[in-house]
Amino acid sequence: MLTAEAVIDLQALQHNYQTLKQHCPQQQLVAVIKGDAYGHGALRVAQTLTSADMFAVARIEEALELRAAGIETPILLLEGCFCLEDLMLAAEQRFHTVVHSDFQLQQFTSAQLPAPIQVWLKLDTGMHRVGIEREQFCEFVQQLQRSSNLAGELGFISHLSCADDLQSDTTARQIALFEELTKAYSGPKTLANSAGVLFWPDAQYDYVRAGISLYGISPSEQSIGQDYQLKPVMSLKSKLISVRQHRKGEPIGYGEIWRASEDTLVGVVAMGYGDGYPRSAPAGTPVYINGRIVPIVGRVSMDMLTVDLGADASDKVGDSVELWGRQLPIERVAQALDTIPYELCIKLTKRVAKTLA
Ligand code: PLP
Repeated sequence: MLTAEAVIDLQALQHNYQTLKQHCPQQQLVAVIKGDAYGHGALRVAQTLTSADMFAVARIEEALELRAAGIETPILLLEGCFCLEDLMLAAEQRFHTVVHSDFQLQQFTSAQLPAPIQVWLKLDTGMHRVGIEREQFCEFVQQLQRSSNLAGELGFISHLSCADDLQSDTTARQIALFEELTKAYSGPKTLANSAGVLFWPDAQYDYVRAGISLYGISPSEQSIGQDYQLKPVMSLKSKLISVRQHRKGEPIGYGEIWRASEDTLVGVVAMGYGDGYPRSAPAGTPVYINGRIVPIVGRVSMDMLTVDLGADASDKVGDSVELWGRQLPIERVAQALDTIPYELCIKLTKRVAKTLA
């Protein structure tokens, strides 16, 4: 009998894929499944999204695991390769790789590979994290195109830094620079993440790279997935393991950070930072129990958190609790926790079983 579980709804995943496709019917859709598909289970997600044109992961270890499990769809390594051994493996396994630095260019062009590789040249259009600058562009393109290690046409990739902020003019500038640099080339281009897909049609180019929205979550702090007809894929659930009478003025939990302002019933939920639920959750963070939202009170501990059920509550030990998911949007929880949904779902620990809806 499971206590804490992340229930994964694969039908919702398929629904989200189709919904996103409607935003970009002409484009190829790259499903971003790095970080174990943002905590949803990369293999399960890859096996479900059979019509995805490509998968994207951050590191080669993630891609190797997917190939070893029989995933034959093209896989893009978003961070590229950092040693010759990885480049050789990428060639053997037919991974697409990003080149974003002098180091990677040098390594790629000088390697003796068992097979050519499809390369995506990463341009820094404004994120200023990785990617080559405007001044380096022609030199990189020439060297890559001359290399016998290059398979097919050279692709171009860049990443949007503020696409979730509709007021920012950064995205328009990033699109303009990407356009200016790549317009003379016929190779495949990709710029849009989820926010690009939903909010910036001009950023869609040939391939879009959707991560968070596939999981039914809005890329913007101002909205929830449902606003775009997306359905939550993960519901984080646990149980009430105690319901106790709590007297006015009594503190609860470590550090006595909360005291009841009147007599009430306090519920103890089997969920804590040992499961990946943030210890930083302030009083008032929402939790769903028996058809209503109740607030967290007191400090989240390793295995438990406490909620104020109210004086008249009829909740019982064993009742189901949802920390986020179908009944309680993860975006709302993330807002209360002063973080983003990405961080919440990716941080769940091994103790939380992943089950299917
Ligand atoms: N492309 C790159 C290079 C990324 O690093 C990410 C995720 O961080 C994505 C696409 C997907 O972004 P999102 O999950 O916001 O759709």
